[in-house]
Amino acid sequence: MKVIVLGAGIIGIHTAWYLLDQGHDVVVVDRQPDAALETSFANGAQISVCFCEPWANAGAPFKVAKWLLKDDAPLLFRPRLDPAQWRWGLSFLGQCTTAAFERNVEQLVRLGRYSHESLQALVAETGIQYNRLQKGILHFFGSEADFEAGAQGAEIMRRHGVDRRVLSRDEVLAIEPALRSAQHAVFGGTYTPSDESGDARVFTQALAKLAERRGAQFLWNHDIVTLQPQGSEVAGVQIQSRETGQTQWLKGDAYVVALASYAPGLTKALGEHLNIYPAKGYSATLRLKRPEQASTVSLLDDARKIAISRLGDFVRIAGTAELVGLDTSLDSPTSKVRCESLVRRYEELFPGVADLSEPNYWTGLRPSTPTNVPYIGRSQKASNLWINAGHGTLGWTHGAGSGRALAELMSGKRPDLDFGFYGDALPARAVRSLQTA
Ligand SMILES: Cc1cc2nc3c(=O)[nH]c(=O)nc-3n(C[C@H](O)[C@H](O)[C@H](O)COP(=O)(O)OP(=O)(O)OC[C@H]3O[C@@H](n4cnc5c(N)ncnc54)[C@H](O)[C@@H]3O)c2cc1C
Repeated sequence: MKVIVLGAGIIGIHTAWYLLDQGHDVVVVDRQPDAALETSFANGAQISVCFCEPWANAGAPFKVAKWLLKDDAPLLFRPRLDPAQWRWGLSFLGQCTTAAFERNVEQLVRLGRYSHESLQALVAETGIQYNRLQKGILHFFGSEADFEAGAQGAEIMRRHGVDRRVLSRDEVLAIEPALRSAQHAVFGGTYTPSDESGDARVFTQALAKLAERRGAQFLWNHDIVTLQPQGSEVAGVQIQSRETGQTQWLKGDAYVVALASYAPGLTKALGEHLNIYPAKGYSATLRLKRPEQASTVSLLDDARKIAISRLGDFVRIAGTAELVGLDTSLDSPTSKVRCESLVRRYEELFPGVADLSEPNYWTGLRPSTPTNVPYIGRSQKASNLWINAGHGTLGWTHGAGSGRALAELMSGKRPDLDFGFYGDALPARAVRSLQTA
């Protein structure tokens, strides 16, 4: 089968890779000149299987209301005249119940585990180097009240089979001695030893190169313009070269939409309304002046809701979310406040460790669903159209598993993953028990 994969971020490239494994011919189209140049470019670098709680929970509406209009709040909701934003916001509120939270966590943990196994096998198979650190993720809390809430969170996650340990301050400092300089900010912590970190862009670009060697064709610098419906199928996709302006129709047997926050814009012409809204985040990457004093365990700073990951001689500080539409600007006053606050916090925690003179700022749009659970599966409007989008805060964590599962579904196989695939009434376990009944 000839499959056209639309989008070359973490999700599109993993999908392409596993489609090759299944013996398909693959064409990948992206508007950028290489893979992973948009949302997958400079994220928090965490493979965070065990810290995967969705944003929507019973306490979220109060927190968001408290943060409303505060420029440096971790989650900033700027109401706009944008029906997609309101639709997303209302669905999000609908997920703010304990029952929905539990349901969503279950899905995210399962996908995370499956994805982690897939990534580990892929790294072993390809040998790609991407500043991987298998040292777990350490979440530290600055106050007793936050620590107590964190310990309760750990208990909930343990019920879902996740190994998240509760640590005293001394135990936190034993796991990451670099935090001694930040003792004032550490009351206690929680720790997930099996989590990892590594550079998503480096990995994805290397995987794209290997996919090309295996025969995948890449059409870079092409805007994806529209899909051509024909009966219950897609007959082609129109693309336009950014270099020559020329348009052409590409035809395949099947199509995959892996366009992150831009997926709903493409599918809506078919009447397929994907509830994905961009949550703008930021990162700062700093060169280390004193690498020996910098952390190597990937960190979550609860007070600021930021991730801190070591990437070789650099450190990446990432976080914050703004629901402000498809805005990727870095030069607005709010962006400036948010970027500078990342660097300021790092310096507070690790004074003198990083070179602050040339911070590398970046912004990306997390393709967020109200549940945090991505769309993976067959379109409900066209039988040869498939969706792999809406990975929100966890696209790097869930990339390998999402790509592998979709490639298997497209090949008529049932992934070994009990998950609510899009366009699918029954999760895998139910199907298996029907098959064996
Ligand atoms: C600040 C921040 C921190 C994060 N930290 C983490 C983390 O620590 N761990 C984790 O697991 N996840 C993290 N994430 C989330 C993760 O980065 C995303 O979920 C992931 O990058 C999404 O991948 P994607 O392939 O869906 O999107 P993208 O990488 O954006 O890929 C989509 C591709 O589609 C292309 N495209 C879009 N529209 C068109 C068009 N019309 N024509 C042609 N091409 C088009 C784009 O060029 C792009 O290459 C973070 C995100 C942010 C913003």
